[in-house]
Amino acid sequence: MPVYNIKKYPDPFLRRKAFRVGKITIEERKILAQMVETMYFADGIGLAGPQVGIDRQFVVVDVGEGLIKLVNPKIVFREGESLMEEGCLSVPGVFLNIKRAEKILVEGWDEKENNVQIAAEGLLAHVLQHEIDHLEGILIIDKAEKKEKKKFNLF
Ligand code: ZN
Repeated sequence: MPVYNIKKYPDPFLRRKAFRVGKITIEERKILAQMVETMYFADGIGLAGPQVGIDRQFVVVDVGEGLIKLVNPKIVFREGESLMEEGCLSVPGVFLNIKRAEKILVEGWDEKENNVQIAAEGLLAHVLQHEIDHLEGILIIDKAEKKEKKKFNLF
């Protein structure tokens, strides 16, 4: 299966808001499978639709605890605070300390349109919040504090 090209900052596509997916057919499952291929090929631990030119709410994640494919994900609960260094396949070479919720609960669909809930903390919580940000057109450079961004001459 071919892999997608990953869009890099400042590609304006990364700023699009992704549309909700209304129905999952073989076509949507194919997109998810190709996103998974792309994520592994790029050595990533998460990938969102807009990063590969798809402005629909698809997210794939694998932090070493198993592959997660999520459609229309929504954070319905968040608790605590956690600071962790994050990178992004769309902002290569940049690693920024990002503050996020420590624990979250995410709801969405799996690739068969089943409702799923994922309780996450630590790295998985960071990655899920990072990918769900992509669906809103938000990048790590928007979340980091000024002194963090200075390290990489970002503004
Ligand atoms: Zn990213």
